[in-house]
Amino acid sequence: MRTKTLRFRMMLLFTTVVGVLLAGSYLAVWGLLAHEVPTQLNRQLLDTARPLVADIITEPNAQDVNRLDIPGEFFEVLDATGHVLQHSKNLTTLINLSGISPAVSRPTFGIAAIGDAQSVRVALIPFQQANQLRVLVVAIPTLGTNRVLTSFGRVALLLLPLSLLVTAGISAFYVGRSLAPINALTQHAALMAKRVTNRQGFWTPLPVSSPYDELGRLAETFNQLLQGVDSAVRQLRQFVTDASHELRTPLAVLHGETELLLSKPRSAEEYQKNLFVFDEEFKKLTRIVEGLFTLSMADAGQLHLMCEPLYINEVLEEACALVTSRARTKNIVIVRELNQEIAYSGDEAFLHQMFLIFLDNAIKYSSEATQVRVTLAQQDGTIRVVFEDQGIGISSKHLPFIFERFYRAAPSSSGEVHSGGLGLAIAQAIARAQGGSIECQSTPGAGSTFTVILPLISAEPNLGSQPKQKLMLA
Ligand code: ADP
Repeated sequence: MRTKTLRFRMMLLFTTVVGVLLAGSYLAVWGLLAHEVPTQLNRQLLDTARPLVADIITEPNAQDVNRLDIPGEFFEVLDATGHVLQHSKNLTTLINLSGISPAVSRPTFGIAAIGDAQSVRVALIPFQQANQLRVLVVAIPTLGTNRVLTSFGRVALLLLPLSLLVTAGISAFYVGRSLAPINALTQHAALMAKRVTNRQGFWTPLPVSSPYDELGRLAETFNQLLQGVDSAVRQLRQFVTDASHELRTPLAVLHGETELLLSKPRSAEEYQKNLFVFDEEFKKLTRIVEGLFTLSMADAGQLHLMCEPLYINEVLEEACALVTSRARTKNIVIVRELNQEIAYSGDEAFLHQMFLIFLDNAIKYSSEATQVRVTLAQQDGTIRVVFEDQGIGISSKHLPFIFERFYRAAPSSSGEVHSGGLGLAIAQAIARAQGGSIECQSTPGAGSTFTVILPLISAEPNLGSQPKQKLMLA
């Protein structure tokens, strides 16, 4: 069976419900009328008959009934065999009781006829007159009351299909109007589905008919969701493009060097010279791949950080010592202000890696015979590690983006240790994983200051005896 549209199904439902309710109401009213009207008529017949019976009993010879001429009310007095003893003046033909037996022991009601046409409601009231059983027959026309019931039935039969038609029309219109935003959403979503592979992104805002109703809120929620998905997909695409671009350069160098080396027989020195080049390129590749791995683990909340007691000043001292020789080749002095002993609880290896990134950058982006100052301080419940250089600085145009992956404000000169544009992104991931943050201030031509702010989680270092606890970051 073909699936009907929601609009059609809702219209059918509304119409059926209204139809059943209306038919039920009409039937109930009709039943009430059909029961109530005869009851009222019977009561009226009894009320009319009662004084008359009393009169006849008290004055048996008065022949009062023969003189009665009340419009719309007819009377007969019968004996026990049904023979008419008296009848009202307005009866030109006798009442045809049509099968109702006059031998009744208590008031009896029924439908009778006067002449051929006039249908009447009759009451047969038995009474004793001089020890004789008599029956007073009182009749009133049913014409009016029957007509009410018939008219009501006709009106109901006409109104029911009309009401159903109007209900169907209104519900089809209203449901159609209410569902119009869903149709618009469907069309818009279908368009987006076609654009999913678009490099510029697929998301354009879904139409929000009214932000206050359910459909409006649904559209707004989908807008937020799809915008997020679109931006994540774009970032992912950009990331893959940048990563492959970064990996291509060292691979191209390795390929070129290998081809050159194999083009003719070489001496041992030449092989050794080339192996140094290979080693450098492998180091670059390793750094990039390791950086990407660290970042992807951080993205997935899987960067496992140790929570071990350490002294921050000691980790900083070690990092400074490691870059001293490189600084010396550029005649750069590393000034350490690390006199304060600050106990901390964190991952020594990752902290060391983060400090090295800032020190490497400070040396890399500074000219010869300058100074790099490393300061450690405790301030407002935080630990602040400041790396201040007198290097080339970063222009305000680049400053907001330097923590993005693969972003480079300035080309790094060959021979320098470089992270492939991942250094600051990794440093930020580590700082965040430790619950901290990084701030940067820079003046082009004057130098840059990077401040690592870590929450003060002090722990009494008892290296060696204390087991290392692994902290999993979600
Ligand atoms: P990389 O140094 O490998 O290019 P980073 O992520 O470490 O990647 O740094 C991103 C960019 O930020 C660098 O390319 C450089 O332009 C800028 N930068 C970082 N540190 C400094 C600094 N101390 N002085 C000047 N520029 C810097």
